[in-house]
Order: sequence, then C-alpha cells, then structure tokens
Amino acid sequence: MPESDKKPDVSAGRSSDLRFPDLPYSNPFDDDKLHEECGVFGIYGTDDAAAHTALGLHALQHRGQESAGIVSYDGNRFNTHRNLGLVGDIFSSQAVMDSLEGDRAIGHNRYSTSGETLLRNVQPLFAEFAFGGLAIAHNGNLTNAIAVRRELVNRGSIFHTTSDSEVLIHLISTSTRNTVSDRIVDALQGVEGAYSLIAMTNDAMYGVRDPLGVRPLIIGSIDGATILTSETCALDIIGAEYVRDVEPGEMVIVDSSGVLSLKPFAVSPPRFCIFEYVYFARPDSVVGDTSVYEARKRIGAELAREAAVDADIVVPVPDSGNPAAMGYAVESGIPFELGIIRNHYVGRTFIEPSDSIRHLGVKLKHNANRAYIEGKRVILVDDSIVRGTTSTKIVEMVRAAGATEVHMRIASPPTTHSCYYGVDTPERDKLIAARLDLETLRAYVGVDSLAYISMDGLYRAMGQENRNAEVPQFCDACFSGEYPVALSDHEQGDDGAQLSLLSERV
Ligand code: AMP
Repeated sequence: MPESDKKPDVSAGRSSDLRFPDLPYSNPFDDDKLHEECGVFGIYGTDDAAAHTALGLHALQHRGQESAGIVSYDGNRFNTHRNLGLVGDIFSSQAVMDSLEGDRAIGHNRYSTSGETLLRNVQPLFAEFAFGGLAIAHNGNLTNAIAVRRELVNRGSIFHTTSDSEVLIHLISTSTRNTVSDRIVDALQGVEGAYSLIAMTNDAMYGVRDPLGVRPLIIGSIDGATILTSETCALDIIGAEYVRDVEPGEMVIVDSSGVLSLKPFAVSPPRFCIFEYVYFARPDSVVGDTSVYEARKRIGAELAREAAVDADIVVPVPDSGNPAAMGYAVESGIPFELGIIRNHYVGRTFIEPSDSIRHLGVKLKHNANRAYIEGKRVILVDDSIVRGTTSTKIVEMVRAAGATEVHMRIASPPTTHSCYYGVDTPERDKLIAARLDLETLRAYVGVDSLAYISMDGLYRAMGQENRNAEVPQFCDACFSGEYPVALSDHEQGDDGAQLSLLSERV
C-alpha cells in the first residue's frame, strides 16, 4: 500500500496520531465576525396576524435559533415582543400573544454569535419617524454597513444596536424623499450586500429583494391576507398558498388595496445563493420553482456518478446529508442505511466553549448505529465540510463502531471562502478546505477516500449545463471566491470592528 493510502490509526485519538500543528480543534459554535442567518415572515390583513407570524417563524427556525421577535400594528399602536431563545418558547404565553394585537405583523428569527446575542439586536427593529412607525426585518448582510454607519454617526446618528440592519433605519429616517417607499429605495441605494427585507409602517407592509436576489423572499396568501416570507415551509405550516417569488430588485407594497410591484433597482442577472439548496433552506421548501429536497437528491446522484466507490452501505450525516445520501444510494445501487442517529434535543446553548466540552459536542449530537456499521465498508455523505470538526468526529465514531472502510462524499465543492451575504461562516483561515489540499484533508478527516462534487456537477444537479464562467447562475462565492457584490467593509479591513461601547448582560 502506498504511504499516502495508509489509514491513520484513529483508535487512540486523533490529536496524538495526526499532528497538524496549525489546526486546533475549533469550536463550531465560536465566531468572530459580524454576520447573521435569518428567517423573515410578515402578514397583512388577517385577525391573529401575530399568531400566524409566530407559526411562520417556527417553520423557519432552522434559519436562526438564537432570538426571535414580532412587531404587530393594531391601527393605533405598534406592539412588540422580542427575546433571545427559540420561537416556541418566546411566543408560548397567551398573555404575550394577546398583547400582539393587529391585523398585520412582521417577524424575524436570527442566529448570531454569542458576543452579539444582545436583546437590543433582536429584530424586527423599530423606530418612530416623522411619518409614523417603521419596523424592519432583514435577512442578509450589508457589506458596507460599517462604513455607512461611521458616516451616519459622524453626521449625528445615535445607534442602538450592533446590527448592520440598523443603518437602514437611519438611512430611511434621513432620506429627503417624500413617500415611505421612496425613502426605503433611497436607503437601499446607499447600501451594498444581500437583503431580503420586510418593513411595516402604519399604512403598509413592504418587501424588497436585493438586485441579485441572493437571499429568498416569496409572496403567499391565505384567506385574502398577503404574506411575505423566506421559504414555502412557512406558508405550509398555516395552510397558506404560494403566490410567487419577489423578484430580484423588486419592491412590493402590500396594503388594503392589494399588492403593488415596483422595480426601482437596475436589473442584473440573478445570483441566488446556491448554498440555500445545499444546506440552508429546509428540504420541504420549494425555492425558485425547485424543491430543495429534490435538488439535494440530484446533487447526491451527480456525486455518485462523479465519485463512485465500491462499498456496502451509504450513510448520511444526519440530517443535512440525508437527501444527498439518498440520491447517492439510488444512483449507485448501494443500500442506504441510517448508520448514524442524531439526537434532536441538543440545544446550541448546551455547548460550552471549553476544550473538554467542545470535544463532547459532536458525540452529544450523533451516535453510530453499530448494528448497521460493524464490518461494513461505509460511504458517508454530508452536505459540506466547514471547519472539519463534525467530519473528523463522525469518522472516528464510525470506525469505532467497526466500519472496515470509510469513504466520505461531500455534496458541495470545497468551502474555501467566507460568506459575507448572510450565511454564517467562519473566517477563511478556519475553513479547513482553504488550508489543506485534498489529500492532506483526507488524512486529517481520517477517511480512506474523500471526494467533493465538482462545481460543474453542482450546477448540473441544479439543471444547468455547467457553471457559466462569465456570469454564474448562482452566488457560489463560498466555493469559488467570486463575490458578486462588493465587500467594501471587508476590503477596508473592517470585518468585526467593535461597534458598541455598551456591554449588555441578558
Ligand atoms: P464543521 O465542518 O464541523 O464546521 O461542520 C460542518 C457541518 O456544519 C456541515 O455538515 C453542515 O451540516 C453544517 N453547516 C454547514 N454550513 C453551516 C452554517 N453556515 N451554519 C451552521 N452549520 C453549517
């Protein structure tokens, strides 16, 4: 056996067997830059608007698990409840729900890092202007927010949060335009980045998608009420119908006269985030006419064609690897088995950032199904490798359960670049595929073979002939490093600047 094909002996513990001095076990829950993952939901024109919104946010819980909030408008006052935690806990009290009166409401849930998990950052953000109240819920990330914020502060703005979204409030407030919709457009023309935004005023609900349509935003309807939200699963939960996507660069204004569509931004070829299909969106959602589940199965099938290997079973890393593993199994004819079982009751907050607990993290979440693994040649399928922590622990676990060979197949190209458009990824130096070549990574993860789907393979699975190198059909910056929207703050070295002098205990 050539030296490079020798399996690392993982039985005695990775750190003593394989030394990669610059690659500490990193905490998958730590973080060091300003960014968020979010889900948004808004409804106009129904009794119990807040209850509908809470249900919608619950369906979008996968898009953000650290805080949630709702603002409703009852024709007289805006009412709000926002807190840290899961949607089901935050909106479980009848008194809270009763306080959120009104026939319209918008809501937001959010994942942010522990340092930024501040109550005052919880959205929707709300402000009172000369024209009345304005609540906003933003999914995405503004890539020049720090520069804009500095300028606004120099001009006298007083910021209350450390969230990039707050610059929009100030830009809307200081806009010299007359109507709210013009002010929102004016504000958005001053920012760069990705946004799917829902706003609510005394008169209307607004939905806007950035000109490239990086993040999703759809329109739904239920019994005459209009919904704006991130994914179709948030419509399904309340039995609402999907109407259409808000188009990239489109603004819709929803009020008692219906839905008005404006196209205030220059049209550019859309660049929807391909990672929504790979990992982020819920598999039962239909995004841009494509079922996420179906897309993941096709990615798995493509992966099986590109990176076949002889083995006994195909095992997903649950849950995110499930559909791709099914696609791989069907295409390869190798049986699919749930060889790893996931414990669904592990909360993020349970994980303490100390070394000892950090190592426990993955074991708390996953366990090998020994009866199906022992003596088998296993193909493990996962959607992505980010820091490499999950894969290395899973592989150790599968070997310890008696697998005779472990082959890893990844349903996306190597994650080599950070996302600046609203998906939480670590800094580039923590992305293991940015630091190690394939062979070194294979040895580090401890598998007999490792293969990723190719970029063209991923595009084929998404129904394209290949990736159009001139103007790729999706935003794939996390895999290609080609960022379709300027990264002004990043280029100025302004990634995680301390934005607030106030420390807040919650
Ligand atoms: P790791 O390589 O240990 O950092 O984690 C990789 C796993 O985390 C993948 O298999 C995904 O299921 C999941 N994952 C990928 N991207 C993200 C993200 N942006 N936020 C949270 N989890 C993610």
